[in-house]
Amino acid sequence: KLTFDELIHHWALEKPDQVALEQDGDALTFSQLEERSRRIVSMLRTHGLAKGDRIAWLGKNARHYFELFYSAARMGVVMVPIGWRLAAPEIAYILEDTGARLLFTGEGFDDLGALACSQIESPPQVFDTVGAQAEIASAPADDFTGAGPQDAVLQLYTSGTTGNPKGAVLTNANLFSLRQPAEEAAQPWSSWDDDEAILICMPCAHIGGTGLGIMALAAGIRGIVQAEFTPDGVLDGFEQGITRLFIVPAALQMVVHHPRARNTDMSGVKYVMYGAAPIPLDLLREAVQTIPDAGFLQCYGMTETTGTIAMLPPEDHCLEGNERMKSAGRAVPGAELKVVGDDGEELPIGDVGELICKSPSNMAGYWNLPDATTAALKDGWMHTGDAAYMDRDGYVYIQDRMKDMIISGGENVYPAQVESAIYGHPAVGEVAVIGVPDETWGEAVKACVVPKPGQVLDPDDVIAFTRERLAGFKVPKTVDLIPEMPRNASGKILRRELRAPYWQGRD
Ligand code: ATP
Ligand code: MG
Repeated sequence: KLTFDELIHHWALEKPDQVALEQDGDALTFSQLEERSRRIVSMLRTHGLAKGDRIAWLGKNARHYFELFYSAARMGVVMVPIGWRLAAPEIAYILEDTGARLLFTGEGFDDLGALACSQIESPPQVFDTVGAQAEIASAPADDFTGAGPQDAVLQLYTSGTTGNPKGAVLTNANLFSLRQPAEEAAQPWSSWDDDEAILICMPCAHIGGTGLGIMALAAGIRGIVQAEFTPDGVLDGFEQGITRLFIVPAALQMVVHHPRARNTDMSGVKYVMYGAAPIPLDLLREAVQTIPDAGFLQCYGMTETTGTIAMLPPEDHCLEGNERMKSAGRAVPGAELKVVGDDGEELPIGDVGELICKSPSNMAGYWNLPDATTAALKDGWMHTGDAAYMDRDGYVYIQDRMKDMIISGGENVYPAQVESAIYGHPAVGEVAVIGVPDETWGEAVKACVVPKPGQVLDPDDVIAFTRERLAGFKVPKTVDLIPEMPRNASGKILRRELRAPYWQGRD
């Protein structure tokens, strides 16, 4: 089943009383979802919306959001969830860029929504949750024509780690093609028991949030929505029967280090999915030990590929002498991965180049950015912008972002490798490595370091420490001590902000 319309209809017939979505104990079954979504479709049509039009959501995760998204998707109206940490002008930009006709606000976001709308020439009509619910309840549960597999249903903005966020347009087929593998390609984790429940706690404006709702719907099981990630919420979820979840490494660390973690019964957790950013090996080992009964699945992917295209399976998470644990995994069934050089030629095993992906989950394109779309999707292969190599068994090892690679004296330096060496220094709290202009070398390696609280750090000591561990050309020429690391809402370090002052007026 490749569309929301088919899936919702299917589950309403097959398991009418199964809970589809739940938040704070408030549940919606598949038969209720079928009925509610018909009313929502009627409501959207009353406001003149038709296939290809856009609506937006501004708020934290909510059952109401998922219900709106699924229903709009049934008729091919595209949902644009907007990150709730964004400022009014950023929200206004997205609303204008997408031409969203209606804006739905979640609890606590009415004022921010109104402020953003006041900055737009022809703003969308705004519905707060109470207003929307009232209209939905009185709308008729009419029949309608469902959207097809190739119709767009979701527009998600990339995290904006390397530049301005870009709107990736995703179709029904993009969202469901990899989520229901054919029987022969099925893995243990692609089959589900009816009583499973999946936790949706990452923000719905990212694929790691909304994508989990899609996963629950594809599997016909319970999606448990939490407004936002908190380590307590995750631990509560474990106690309440969560069997799977997805979290980013920074969140996993908070869960593992939480004082409650030791006393929480985690025996019901079947799979812990993690990814979206590189994970420090020590943290991964600690997590595996803290949640020993769960299978760990590393997910590698991007907004443009509707999330996961490579996975590191549970059996590669053994703790001793395991190089594989540094890998982001291998292509999931249905997706194909290659590592290519500057001219697009496939590189030999072990050589670092750009990772590219062919998958039915590759986006239709970037919204309003035809040139960026052509550059990213050459011959149907998504160019990830990530530098990686592949081993003999097809496992990929992500080195870094291509954009962040430093070319110093003709040698390629991947900041992530230098950073992981520097992280070994006992007084280093956080580090980001960047390239700065250099007369002799073209670019010189610089490390920006946040010392651990209460520690005194000598820049020369960091340089000497690194020299013992890495080739000379990778060792930072200079070290800046900084008070705080610039990060985006996904918790990813913004190296471009650290680089900017050095490159002003050049490049
Ligand atoms: P932008 O494209 O706007 O610069 P972004 O690339 O951070 O932002 P996302 O689509 O949210 O936006 O993130 C995808 C990127 O996250 C990948 O290209 C990769 O660099 C990184 N990533 C995802 N999963 C992993 C993983 N398992 N290990 C390492 N890095 C990962
Ligand atoms: Mg990206």
